[in-house]
Amino acid sequence: MFGFPEAYKPLPKKKKKKKKYIPQIVKDIQGYKHMEIDYAFEKNISYSQFSQYLECPKKWELNYVRGYKVFNSTIHTVFGTAIHEALQYYLQFMYDNSGAAADREDIEGLFEEKLRTEYKTQYEKNNKQHFSSPEELREFYNDGVEIIKYVKKHRSKYFSKKGWYLVGCEIPITLIPNYKLKNVKYQGYLDLVMFHEPTNTFNIIDIKTSTRGWNNKAKKEEIKQFQLILYKKFFAKLFNIPLENIKIEFFIVKRKTYDNPDFHISRVQQFTPASGKVKLNKVTRLLDEFITEAFDEQGEYKDKEHEMTPTDKCGWCPFYKTIKCSATFEY
Ligand code: SF4
Repeated sequence: MFGFPEAYKPLPKKKKKKKKYIPQIVKDIQGYKHMEIDYAFEKNISYSQFSQYLECPKKWELNYVRGYKVFNSTIHTVFGTAIHEALQYYLQFMYDNSGAAADREDIEGLFEEKLRTEYKTQYEKNNKQHFSSPEELREFYNDGVEIIKYVKKHRSKYFSKKGWYLVGCEIPITLIPNYKLKNVKYQGYLDLVMFHEPTNTFNIIDIKTSTRGWNNKAKKEEIKQFQLILYKKFFAKLFNIPLENIKIEFFIVKRKTYDNPDFHISRVQQFTPASGKVKLNKVTRLLDEFITEAFDEQGEYKDKEHEMTPTDKCGWCPFYKTIKCSATFEY
């Protein structure tokens, strides 16, 4: 027997995924085709090279020109890489989806994995010599978890979605700073770039890790500030954005806080260095001096003796009190 045919049920309508609105300027930056570097005949300079030259031209020469580059990874640099990647993933997920969805992601697990793999990479580079201990790695892992928990809990204080768009994480910046030396290209990466549509402004954020934050002395260190000031200038130039529409900010995450039950102790410190005309001109001049002093017209390192500038930081330099550097600095 045939029964009555089942009542016709229309298939449930597939919900059309609403296309996410992205401001045109953000799309343009995201789709930008970046300049490439042909390492066969071009040299790239990074901020770490430039800052090393600013610190001491001799140190830069020994590292880059004479090839005495020494292994300089530490548990601090490994931690920095892992926490950067974990926070960037979290923020990207938050802006692509929602804060609640990002909170459900296992960011602590991701951080642990990054910490392990980055340590392993650096251990291999160090001829399989350990430069930390399981106890120290555990301590840094715990510190990172505290930072992640803090950022998750207070995300709306630091990262709003009202009118804000995440342009990207690790946005490359590649350009020729001095057209007389076309074979020397600057390459850097911007940790986070945000766009605020209502005010048409960008915020370039550099994530820094620190044990207890930056004190006044650290905030005044120009070499620290120059990185972001330079990025402001390059971002403006590359994407044709007025300088006054670009803000910069250091987002400093602290591994340790001073315990005080009476006060709320933040794990995050925000710092915006002055980046007006005077500072922009200064960093431009210094970068130009570095390029013209260090490279010839073919883009090769000049074979010359660079000056030593001994300071109280010499004690951290791998060439201190070696035959490679005759500098002395009495503390
Ligand atoms: S020890 Fe001091 S002066 Fe010598 S290369 Fe290192 S930073 Fe420069």
